[in-house]
Amino acid sequence: MDKILVHICCGVDSVYALRKLKEDFPNSQLIGYFYDPNIHPEEEFELRWIETKRVCDELSIECIKGEYELDRWVEAVKGYENEPERGERCTICHDVRLSKSAYVAKQLGCNKMTTVLMMSPKKDFDVLKEVGEKVASQYGIEFLAVDFRKNGGTQIMNKLSKESQLYHQNYCGCIYGLFGQKKNVEFYPELVSFGKGRLAGSREELLFVKQIRLFAENLGLECKEEEFSFIGWRLISSSVKLNKDYVNHKVLPYSATIKGVVRGTVLDVDGNKVLLNKDNVEVFLTDSLNEPVLHEHRAFTKPVFFISEKVNVGDKLEFQLKAEFDPTMKSQNLYIGDRETFKEIKEFYSDTDMEGNQGYKLEEICRFIENNKDSIKKGELMVAIYGAHLVGNLGKRFSSIRTLEFSAQ
Ligand code: SF4
Repeated sequence: MDKILVHICCGVDSVYALRKLKEDFPNSQLIGYFYDPNIHPEEEFELRWIETKRVCDELSIECIKGEYELDRWVEAVKGYENEPERGERCTICHDVRLSKSAYVAKQLGCNKMTTVLMMSPKKDFDVLKEVGEKVASQYGIEFLAVDFRKNGGTQIMNKLSKESQLYHQNYCGCIYGLFGQKKNVEFYPELVSFGKGRLAGSREELLFVKQIRLFAENLGLECKEEEFSFIGWRLISSSVKLNKDYVNHKVLPYSATIKGVVRGTVLDVDGNKVLLNKDNVEVFLTDSLNEPVLHEHRAFTKPVFFISEKVNVGDKLEFQLKAEFDPTMKSQNLYIGDRETFKEIKEFYSDTDMEGNQGYKLEEICRFIENNKDSIKKGELMVAIYGAHLVGNLGKRFSSIRTLEFSAQ
């Protein structure tokens, strides 16, 4: 029996290509190999991997996750950073990915190999064929040059990818390609990772949702994502000084930028609100900067700061704040279970603050789903994971689930 190693770059490119290979080689064993050290940043690599895994699991194809060898890739394309897409850098990039794939194919005892990169309309088929044949022959393996785009392949891929609600990336993968694709932009959200946090609308938030979806689908549960757009808010920098010393603080999402510096004197403290002799900023005292203090979300507001210091009448406060608004943000809700028949709903949310606080842990949600999978399967219980919660409970506001009265956690 033929054993075919399929190099995979993402879920979208594999959703039809793997089906086609299964059809064309019904008596062969397919093994997926996700090897893409070109992808930047690592969270994007993880996101594409999760989506690849979802596709392979659905088709019962084993898939191996290759290592994220970014240093190796950067070294290989050194000197070709400014090449245009489909230029010399891309040929080297294909070489790096397919050489390692050929090596792995040999280790696994495969006699054939191919790549779903040949699905992408942005890739040069002839170059892929040439590189593939060269690296495969070094290990005595046959390279299958399949033009998946032929006979309406691209249209079928788009349809399948929509049906499976696959993440559709908007750049090839590497940092250099992105700079070439988007000229004259000041900010590249695709390249930013937010450390431990999963900010509303970020890749990290989406990755979290996709991880839960993969887990739930593997338990045989019905999942549906619902995407929504919103005006995003990003804090660029902020500082608060109390009597000339910097203090820890937090800024309320959607606070406006301060031009220059605002300096004020404390006139009084009313409960947790600090009254200043300036009314263009607001200050609240809080015991914990991880707890939200305002009960009502403010969509667009003057700058609002939270501090956990002791403040006295006559103290001097100084504020700086730079934030930006992004009208192109997207987030999503995930529903697990039957959205029509449920009698009970359990709600979670997917975003956290910058430091990764005020949110749920993956294990916590997965444990709940696993413990309640029978009631979910019966259609009695539905789990909802709302996006963009901490910037004003947006996921729930945009949710199409309106049949029951319930409250977010
Ligand atoms: S643009 Fe795409 S194919 Fe070309 S080097 Fe970058 S990641 Fe590789």
